[in-house]
Amino acid sequence: MIIGLTGGIGSGKSTVARAFETLGAAWVDADDVAREIVLPGEPALLAIKQHFGEKVIHSDGTLNRVALRDIIFKKPEQRLWLESVTHPKIRERITQHLTQLKAHGAPYVLLVSPLLFESGQNALVNRTVVVDVPQALQVARTLQRDEVSESQVHAILAAQLPREQRLAQADDVIDNSRDHASMMAQVAKLDQYFRHLLNC
Ligand code: ADP
Repeated sequence: MIIGLTGGIGSGKSTVARAFETLGAAWVDADDVAREIVLPGEPALLAIKQHFGEKVIHSDGTLNRVALRDIIFKKPEQRLWLESVTHPKIRERITQHLTQLKAHGAPYVLLVSPLLFESGQNALVNRTVVVDVPQALQVARTLQRDEVSESQVHAILAAQLPREQRLAQADDVIDNSRDHASMMAQVAKLDQYFRHLLNC
């Protein structure tokens, strides 16, 4: 069984994924995979270089994310082109990782993705869990964790699904607005539920 774990920036996805891991689940992070498929030597990086030119490549051959972000921020049609190249590769690589993890015997595996619904990655999973917090807490925790400005956090929020729409698509919800113990108790309950569904 593959569980999609999603939530907005700073909602607590990574924290919740680590909590599931302590109970024996394995997980793949879609953000890590997104970085992996544009490493030097990867076909997606070559396609990006051919399309945008050397200005998006550092002298050591790695992707210049700042330069690329600059272009696609100004030109939405270029964002669409980039996504048409990267999204299928990300999905393909996620599937490979999930298959490997399943072979290692985890009872169920998690796909942790901030854009699970937005990117269509929910097609790869059997169930979805949304980590939910009020937006003000989401912003406060992100500001505490990252060196970003409040306006940058709001720009990221604007590119993600609104809270209500995300919740409407969830099979299960973890309310992460309280302390770690409260989050852990909900994770333990869901872990039991998933094992019950799997008869293990
Ligand atoms: P995401 O992966 O969704 O961006 P994180 O798991 O990194 O979010 O959590 C964002 C920040 O909030 C981190 O600094 C984390 O330690 C903190 N955090 C997560 N859950 C809680 C909680 N229940 N109580 C207090 N802080 C939390």
